Amino acid sequence: MEERMNSKASVEPLRKPRQCPECGRPSSRDTYPFCSARCRELDLSRWLTGSYAIPVAEDESKAGGDEGDNG
Ligand SMILES: [Zn+2]
Repeated sequence: MEERMNSKASVEPLRKPRQCPECGRPSSRDTYPFCSARCRELDLSRWLTGSYAIPVAEDESKAGGDEGDNG
């Protein structure tokens, strides 16, 4: 058995702190490159739909008048 690819302490180069593409705040390691899960979901849903958030208009007001048939 050979043990190859024995990587010792790998040092990661300091990268420039990325800003959240949603709000512009410094990103978090957990939700890179977003600052929070919230922003991540926001961005995700956005490109999923392919368009900006679509405002949902709730129309729950039906005119219930009295209908009289005169004839
Ligand atoms: Zn954000």
